[in-house]
Amino acid sequence: MCLGQLGFEVAAALLEQYGLHLHPVDDDIPIPGSFWGDQEAGIIGSSVYARNDTPVHSLLHEAGHLIVLPVERRSKVHTDATDSLEEEDAVCYLQIVLADQLAGVGRKRLMADMDAWGYTFRLGSTRAWFEGDAGDARRWLIERRLLTADGGWLPPRQGPCDDVPSGPDRCDARDSASPAGSACHDSPGVSP
Ligand SMILES: [Zn+2]
Repeated sequence: MCLGQLGFEVAAALLEQYGLHLHPVDDDIPIPGSFWGDQEAGIIGSSVYARNDTPVHSLLHEAGHLIVLPVERRSKVHTDATDSLEEEDAVCYLQIVLADQLAGVGRKRLMADMDAWGYTFRLGSTRAWFEGDAGDARRWLIERRLLTADGGWLPPRQGPCDDVPSGPDRCDARDSASPAGSACHDSPGVSP
């Protein structure tokens, strides 16, 4: 399934929840920040670029690379988000979970599309990996509060720092020792 079939607004709304901006790219124009080229989605900073013919799994994968990063690190991203295999696996897992948030897509469809595209996993299919061999990826995401404790989708919380007037430490703490995006929510003991 491609973005054109899904609808730009639907995808943009999901990404917006994570503070990401989806930019439409005209047909036949090279996609900015695209690692794979052709119709594959691109990322630059907090922006995701896609065309009508961009596969939804590509869009979710590249957006996932930005979602797993602390906001402060996103600004440094251009085209290639990471060398970390752990992070790569986590992104693959997250894109499957995110597919359930897109009406008409869902994880089954997404995993089938990933197989067709050429994702390869040790256990064969994407689904076999997701259901049987992705424990580390799931844990990685749960630890960073990107999934619920049982591996389900966790709606992102918007602007936690913006609406907490006190304690600059809260926001500063986020990009150092603590997992991505969690320090702001989970340090009730912090006081100015
Ligand atoms: Zn990747």
